[in-house]
Amino acid sequence: MQRFKALLASKTDAGSTLAWQELGEADLMEGDVTVRVSHSTVNYKDGLALTGKAPVIRRWPMIPGIDFAGQVVSSSHAEFKTGEAVILNGWGAGETHYGGYAQMARVKGDWLVKTPAAFSAGEAMAIGTAGYTAMLCVLTLERHGVKPASGPVLVTGAAGGVGSVAIALLARLGYRVTASTGRASEADYLQELGAGEIIDRAELAGKPRPLNKERWAGAVDAVGSNTLANALSMTSYGGTVAACGLAAGMDLPTSVAPFILRGVTLAGVDSVMAPKAARVEAWARLARDLDKGKLAAMTVTRPAADVTALAPDILAGKVRGRVVLELP
Ligand code: NDP
Repeated sequence: MQRFKALLASKTDAGSTLAWQELGEADLMEGDVTVRVSHSTVNYKDGLALTGKAPVIRRWPMIPGIDFAGQVVSSSHAEFKTGEAVILNGWGAGETHYGGYAQMARVKGDWLVKTPAAFSAGEAMAIGTAGYTAMLCVLTLERHGVKPASGPVLVTGAAGGVGSVAIALLARLGYRVTASTGRASEADYLQELGAGEIIDRAELAGKPRPLNKERWAGAVDAVGSNTLANALSMTSYGGTVAACGLAAGMDLPTSVAPFILRGVTLAGVDSVMAPKAARVEAWARLARDLDKGKLAAMTVTRPAADVTALAPDILAGKVRGRVVLELP
């Protein structure tokens, strides 16, 4: 039987603990595809799970990690064969089902997407759930008719994972991107990714007015709270805001004004339970529309053992772009 290393989160009377442990294949949870995991990543939600700042883990003990990439070791699922490269995003991985911080995983084949030929496993996790969600946001804007000619598109949380990938994608597709960041020191980085204009996130952090000067045709918002409310109040007539994140908070202190006076659409984006067809479309579009040079520029690679140290950093907004974790 194969033995492998996994990060196990356990609950005790004294609180929760995290420890790398050796497990066997028989310890894995139910599923019809077993995967040798070579790469995972650190998403914001992983930061919440590992630090216990939000109740992301809902079954104990748990192997955290909401996504992974690797190779099929065995499969009784019709779509997947031994040796195929696969990606998992969400579906409760790292929350209710053993996730990506382990050298092996067993999951439902229905949850998996084949890794596009354009990407190695490392690149797939450089994109990770943050980048796949950025693509879902861009697809949402497209579906609502926001075109490059419609006007600029705002990206909030710009120097983070969702933000960095969203900027690279939108720029490649010909949109003019307004990047909102709290890190003025990252201006060059954001411009290299394709931002045409950079604004201080403080401009969007104050108490929102019901309506404000129209500034953009659409937005990808990873921040929530006042930032999302201000983004809505500054969206031009008929525009759309794709909301996916809560880096500043879960609240949304807005009014109906942008919706009933400007016909603005607030479109929610969820990656975790997104149906398979949406995932396959998003990964195919990432393969087509994401500049791999820009992906490399926004990514650092670290050993999986570093994940517990990285978790508080991502919540503190200290991580730039994306972090790939290698599981040797
Ligand atoms: P990151 O930490 O990489 O990026 C978040 C960015 O938000 C930070 O880099 C920072 O950008 C900005 N930010 C952080 N704190 C604040 C604050 N208090 N006020 C304003 N801006 C702030 O996280 P990810 O990109 O991985 O995730 C972003 C959000 O999207 C998270 O809330 C995450 O949970 C959510 N998410 C949702 C998904 C879904 O399915 N709906 C899937 C994936 C992510 P800067 O320094 O440039 O200002």
